[in-house]
This record gives sequence, C-alpha cells and structure tokens, in this order.
Amino acid sequence: MSILFSIFVFVFGLIIGSFLNCLIWRLYKDESLSGRSYCPKCRHTIAWYDNIPLLSFLILECRCRHCREKISWQYPLVEFVTAVLFLLTFQADASSSQFSWLLLRDWFLIITLMIVFVYDLRWQLVPLKVVWFMGALILVLNIILGVPLLTELFFAALGATFFLAQYLLTKKRGVGEGDIWLGAYLGAAFPGAWSLLLIMVFSYGLGAIISLILISGAKKNWKSRIALGPFLASGAIITLIWGEKIITWYLGLF
Ligand SMILES: [Zn+2]
Repeated sequence: MSILFSIFVFVFGLIIGSFLNCLIWRLYKDESLSGRSYCPKCRHTIAWYDNIPLLSFLILECRCRHCREKISWQYPLVEFVTAVLFLLTFQADASSSQFSWLLLRDWFLIITLMIVFVYDLRWQLVPLKVVWFMGALILVLNIILGVPLLTELFFAALGATFFLAQYLLTKKRGVGEGDIWLGAYLGAAFPGAWSLLLIMVFSYGLGAIISLILISGAKKNWKSRIALGPFLASGAIITLIWGEKIITWYLGLF
C-alpha cells in the first residue's frame, strides 16, 4: 500500500475527528449541525484557517484567536486518535476480500465509540440517539458482511442482558440505562462470544486500574460513580484493532 494512500487516510481521519468534536458539542447543546463553528466562550465564528485539524491548535498555541480562551486538549486529541485508528483499520482491512464494506463498518464503529468515549467522560451520559442510529447502521453493515441478522440480535440481547443484570443487582447505582443500550450496540457490532468476552476483560480491567489510580490520588473515593462508557469504548477499540491477534495468541497457549 502506497505511503500517499496512508497519508490521505490519515488526513481524512483528522477531518472526521474535527467533525466529531463539533458533533459532540452540538449534540450536548442540542443544536443543529448546520452553521459555522464558533468559540464556545466568545461565540466568535471560527475562520476556516483557524479550523484546520491539529495545525490551527498548534499555531494558535491552544487559544481562541479572539478571546484568548484556552481550547480544550480534547480537540487535537480526538482528531489525532481518530486519524490513527482510521489508518490502523485501513491497513488491517486492506488485505480482506470484503475490503470496502469492512472498512466502512470499522470506521462507523470508531466514530460511534469516539463519540461515546468523549460524551460519557465529560457529561457522564451515553448519547442514546447516537447509539440507536449507529446501532441500526451496524446491523445493516454486518448483514452485508455476511452475519445473519438473528446472530446479531442474539448477541445484542446478550450484551444488553449483561448490563441489565448489573443494573438490577446494583439497584441502578453502578450501571446506567445508557450502558444497557451500549451493551446491545456492542453485541450487534461484535457478534461473537470471544470478541464480547475480550471487550469485557479489557473494559473492566482498565476500569479497575484507572479507578485505583484515581482513588489513590484521592480524586475519587470508593463511593464515586465512574462512567463506564469510556472504558467500554476503549475495550471495544482494542478488540477491534488487536482482538483477532490476541485471541489467536491466547488459543495457541493450549
Ligand atoms: Zn473565543
């Protein structure tokens, strides 16, 4: 695969990441997607040359040109991570016979998980509209890729039940309603027992490590509620990119 192609995919990922930042903010504010980007502090419209992914952030030294308000690190980070993930899936899928459909599904997956990660981290809420819409889309894309609808629905129900059980057992304290929908989404997106298991192992493993770090730093205590969405999104991303390799390696141990 040519370097030129990779650069093109990376830049495309940066642009999508930039769009995701805007989408996340407008979802939260319940604003329409049309209209120019603006600074959340002074509401000054952002000129196109100040809205170039990564570069503008560096040139403006992380501040708004008009009011000098600090721009959140979320912006360049989301752009960069989206670009890297787009590139990794592009390279992984390029060898597949179902290349374009597989890549399209993986990119929609990444888009969904990025939105869930940032939104739940910032506001402790799973954006349900996104999960529902993207869930319907992933059902269709997986059917095109040869996964029977019944299989997808079975694993979606399995994912939802896993969180519903926790929701009922913890009397709604540990797990939120959004996590149940997220579980259904992940089941439909990864319709297989091994993948789902891997997502749970990584999510809960990461969750335990980060919680311990936060508690030892006295930023949280044992009673704090830590949003599950960012961990589930991270676990799903790891599974998407490296899942097959990890499972093959693990099964090779026996
Ligand atoms: Zn400003």
